[in-house]
Amino acid sequence: MDERQIAEIVRRVVTEMRPGAGSAPASASSGGHVATCAGGAVAGGRDGVFEDVEDAIRAAVAAQKQLAAEPFELRYKIVQAIRDAATKENERLSRLAVEDTNMGRVDDKMTKNDLAITKSPGPEDLKAECDTGDKGITIHEYAPFGVIGTITPSTNPIATVINHSIVMVSAGNSVVFAPHPGAVKCTLEAMRVMNRAIVGAGGPANLLTSINEPSLRTAKTIMGHENINLLVATGGPSVVKASMNSGKRAICAGPGNPPVIVDETADLKKAANQVFAGATFDNNMPCICEKEVFVLREVAEGFIQALQDKGAYLLTDSEAEALVKVIFTEDDHVNRDYVGKDANVILRSIGLNPPDDLRLVICRTNFSHPLVQHEQLMPVLPIVTVNSFEEAMDMAVRAEHGFRHTAIIHSYRVDRITAFAKAIQVSLFVANGACGCVLGNGGEGNTALTIAGPTGEGVCTPRTFSKRKRMAVVDGALRFV
Ligand code: NAD
Repeated sequence: MDERQIAEIVRRVVTEMRPGAGSAPASASSGGHVATCAGGAVAGGRDGVFEDVEDAIRAAVAAQKQLAAEPFELRYKIVQAIRDAATKENERLSRLAVEDTNMGRVDDKMTKNDLAITKSPGPEDLKAECDTGDKGITIHEYAPFGVIGTITPSTNPIATVINHSIVMVSAGNSVVFAPHPGAVKCTLEAMRVMNRAIVGAGGPANLLTSINEPSLRTAKTIMGHENINLLVATGGPSVVKASMNSGKRAICAGPGNPPVIVDETADLKKAANQVFAGATFDNNMPCICEKEVFVLREVAEGFIQALQDKGAYLLTDSEAEALVKVIFTEDDHVNRDYVGKDANVILRSIGLNPPDDLRLVICRTNFSHPLVQHEQLMPVLPIVTVNSFEEAMDMAVRAEHGFRHTAIIHSYRVDRITAFAKAIQVSLFVANGACGCVLGNGGEGNTALTIAGPTGEGVCTPRTFSKRKRMAVVDGALRFV
């Protein structure tokens, strides 16, 4: 008999012995193979990872009940422990993410994780509010949803686990993860690290759960499960569509295709440096990264030269034509083999021999070029020359495809910054900085790994994962002035 079979027998026996569902005392252990929880015994879990999705959900239900019964203060301890453990394991987990997914860059993943660790808001985000007057007091407070099912991407696997653990648990929820099938090993390992930290801080086991071999079916089960109280989907168009059609309350963070406008008032060198930094970060995989540039004709050559001065490689027309045939499939889809790859690997595919430290490939294109129209998630940046600011805005709005995600402008004309922001209606808008500035990387403010454009929540914080409740005490009964 193997360990799994023994665990299954124990689970059945304990379930049969239980005097009544929900009446067992709350106790759970994270390290062992059997986690006994309020509301049922859940077998097979180790640091939150189960064989079966039903067990993972059941354990998360029990863990959430335990957390809800604890003082609010415990959430601060848990979140601090998550931040500490993630800091300690940042390099190992970043390396694992690159190995597991075969995409991205270790140093940038470390930066991204560090942002999630230090700039994801904690329980302090849930400050109660109060209205007082002659008729008494009305208090507004934030309550957990319960169990959140979160479907996570392959492009930010570790940072998403860190961020979701912090913001969702801060709000008093437990979380069932459905990792991308191409990022299972690193996502589960990050989750185990966070779970151990939670238990070490005195929190319940299994606040974060998942299963050993997640697949698309896992995500679908979570979407339809009666014990999942809120669905969060972070990924491309397919998962957003499926989640929005699931019939469940869903917070959906979809794709982006962030356009950049560079006008004649911009500081060209600074603009080129910022665009270079954004478009090369983690090989341009983050959804917020600069994906195409619209530059005014009178400054186009100067801007391209400034990018080349930073080290970008400018493709000739024939090289660009050859590259398109490699990085897009015949039926006009992005070739996933090149997503998140280093610039030199991408160029070698067309017989060029670039230096190993090449970070960015650029090319001149027109508006309808596939590099402009697709979110290709590679360090290959198309540049379109335009005749006027109005033309730049029109093209940028169309290239963003209504994703309501991110847009960037380099201009010192405030009226143009305002006009573009109003026209494009994105969740994140940056003027005169790299994309990351809007999520605390070089700019002010907190960070999020889930930018919910399609469903409108934008930058997700603990409040996003809470229910706002109010209580009124009337007739001045509770006033002290
Ligand atoms: P992906 O869409 O391939 O996968 C994302 C997740 O959805 C995975 O867990 C996958 O298993 C699941 N999934 C995909 N199709 C599904 C379906 N039909 N039913 C159920 N589950 C499904 O995305 P990816 O390649 O891992 O990540 C890159 C994409 O995610 C890009 O489009 C990027 O812009 C987007 N993204 C957006 C944000 C944001 O905050 N808006 C953050 C990160 C990534």
